[in-house]
Amino acid sequence: MKNSKKIVISTLVVFAAIIGLVLFLNREDETAQPATQTAQNTGGKHPSIEGQPTLGDAEAPVSIVEFGDYKCPSCKQWGETIYPKLIADYVDTGKASFSYINVLFHGEESTLASLASESFYKQDPKNFWTFHKSVFAAQPATQEHDKPWVTMESVKELAKAASPNIDLVQFEKDINSDEMAEKVSKDDGLVKEFQVQFTPSIMINGVMLEDPFDYETIVSLIEKGQEEDKK
Ligand code: CA
Repeated sequence: MKNSKKIVISTLVVFAAIIGLVLFLNREDETAQPATQTAQNTGGKHPSIEGQPTLGDAEAPVSIVEFGDYKCPSCKQWGETIYPKLIADYVDTGKASFSYINVLFHGEESTLASLASESFYKQDPKNFWTFHKSVFAAQPATQEHDKPWVTMESVKELAKAASPNIDLVQFEKDINSDEMAEKVSKDDGLVKEFQVQFTPSIMINGVMLEDPFDYETIVSLIEKGQEEDKK
């Protein structure tokens, strides 16, 4: 009787110690997460923006890259809230460039929208951002975003509205071409290389933002990039 009591007590002590250790380790994890996430993802490496649609001076000391998906509601929201501020404050002023890389997290429609985006950029890079914005604007309200809305017809209509220079026959040919498939697959390769987990993901000079809507951190990373450039 005595012995079995002892066993029960010592089992409870061991059990409590394990719970304590698990709780302690979890707490450690939580506090360690922010710093490691930023560094781990990229190791300070920044994606090449060669061949990617880029706003502003591509040689600017700071490069901002958005990994975005035309089917993603948060990307639409980011484009309506953070993007205009960012462009006015830092891209139009020549301090930073802004590039867009396609992410295909929502399947076939993401792929078609990306192919259309690359095809539009090939024909009319100057009006690219008008088209880019219009695709996000065409995205239905959040609760309906799973409904199919990206079709060959819809992207042709958007392209036609975004620029009078677009040859729609060529646009459709390009969408179906190997050349554009390769461009989209190159973007997909970057998504994997930089371990993009969610959209939009924003990178500034090799640092992946944990929260793309955190404008204060965006500003501090841009300013840090500018200071490093002056050194
Ligand atoms: Ca691309």
